[in-house]
Amino acid sequence: MDNKLTIYNTLSKKKEAFEALNPPHVGMYVCGPTVYGDPHLGHARPAIAFDLVFRYLQHLDYKVRYVRNITDVGHLENDADEGEDKIAKKARLEELEPMEVVQYYTNSYHKAMRALNVLDPSIEPNASGHIMEQLAMIRKILEAGYAYESAGSIYFDVEKYNETNPYGILSGRKVEELVSTSRELEGQAEKKNSFDFALWKKAAPEHIMRWSSEWSDGFPGWHMECSAMGTRYLGEQFDIHGGGMDLLFPHHESEIAQSVAANGKMPVRYWMHNNMITLNGQKMGKSLGNAVSLEEFFTGENPILEQAYSPMTIRFFIMQAHYRSTLDFSNEALQAAEKGYRRMMAAMEVLDKLEANANNGESVDTGKLKDKCYEAMNDDFNSPVVIAHLFDGVKTINSIKDGKLKIDQENLQSLKELYLVFVNDILGLKNEEEAAGDDSLSGQLIETLLNLRREAKGNKDFNTADKIRDQLTAIGVTLKDTKEGTEWSL
Ligand code: ZN
Repeated sequence: MDNKLTIYNTLSKKKEAFEALNPPHVGMYVCGPTVYGDPHLGHARPAIAFDLVFRYLQHLDYKVRYVRNITDVGHLENDADEGEDKIAKKARLEELEPMEVVQYYTNSYHKAMRALNVLDPSIEPNASGHIMEQLAMIRKILEAGYAYESAGSIYFDVEKYNETNPYGILSGRKVEELVSTSRELEGQAEKKNSFDFALWKKAAPEHIMRWSSEWSDGFPGWHMECSAMGTRYLGEQFDIHGGGMDLLFPHHESEIAQSVAANGKMPVRYWMHNNMITLNGQKMGKSLGNAVSLEEFFTGENPILEQAYSPMTIRFFIMQAHYRSTLDFSNEALQAAEKGYRRMMAAMEVLDKLEANANNGESVDTGKLKDKCYEAMNDDFNSPVVIAHLFDGVKTINSIKDGKLKIDQENLQSLKELYLVFVNDILGLKNEEEAAGDDSLSGQLIETLLNLRREAKGNKDFNTADKIRDQLTAIGVTLKDTKEGTEWSL
């Protein structure tokens, strides 16, 4: 276990040496998606940022319990206390059961995450499956005197809490300032203060997603689920909590208040927040950026895209920026990422075939490169610096291939290991060309199915042709019809 790892803690606003609460075990919670639409670039960033953390901690021999939730209830429009549930709204528009919406978009989220080579979390709990835990926590908060009932709903008493515990400790906001910024919304009359937030909401008659409680038939407030499920699976205090910067306030701020009120202690030791994606320097709005799904990136089927961008290109693009930096999206940036990714993969192939050409004493030393890579990762997971070091190494690899530099067996072995560990295991980049190579058995099987599909199309049996396409898509094979024939990728 490496004790040199530092993490920028949003709570203390500085880099701190990482020390696990119960080594070698690490508890990590990351706010997952609200599943009511196609996964987009904004979903890919936190998933990949914390996949890097998950992978690196495991590489350092920590046993990580990684919990990433699925929000399937209680997240209302505009992230507010009033309005329609995002999932219920989608269900109404599509004439589906809310759980059909949840299942459909959970599946598409999983499919996109696997394409991006994001490892599955250890536990992926649903908010709707943890109503009991949420109710139990609300009761504890009520008993402790930090919440009140009003017209069948339960609200967190921010002012009362703030008398003894600073509300705003994470975001740096002050309660006094919140008064003037809280918008006047319908239903605010129920609250003592406009900045109080709902722990439990009484459901209006038309609200479909509802559970019974001693106060009313209703549903939990959005912030409750993460406090309840974090406590359930990681304990009252755990190591790392992550999420996008947009969740810092009010979501994470409220999580802290709820947990402190219920359990009497700070729930999280290291708060980590990934920065947002911008589009030509502007924050990506729902109207534009979020409208481009990951699937559209993979196929290129969106007018703002000049071409298709493979999952590994997207992953490389995200890794090329530090998780706390904004990441500016543009076709040019993605095309540069594609080139960079391909150059890295090409170097890996050259390295794989490289043979030692030196005796001891006249070889390049790969130890320094290794140290630099660890130093960068230990510096708050600095993936862009790791990538820069690995590209320096690519120059060395190519010079050895051209006979301009010499390397002995020992250094060559450690260089090969270094690239496998950092590129494949830690950065999570895999060779897509190799995966899509047609000499493997699965490759041959896919080709066989594509031939059958072509035949079916030739016979105007579009039903069968579509069936083959759908079933291949379902197992993660993406097809792209071109003039030259059908291309496929995993
Ligand atoms: Zn959350």
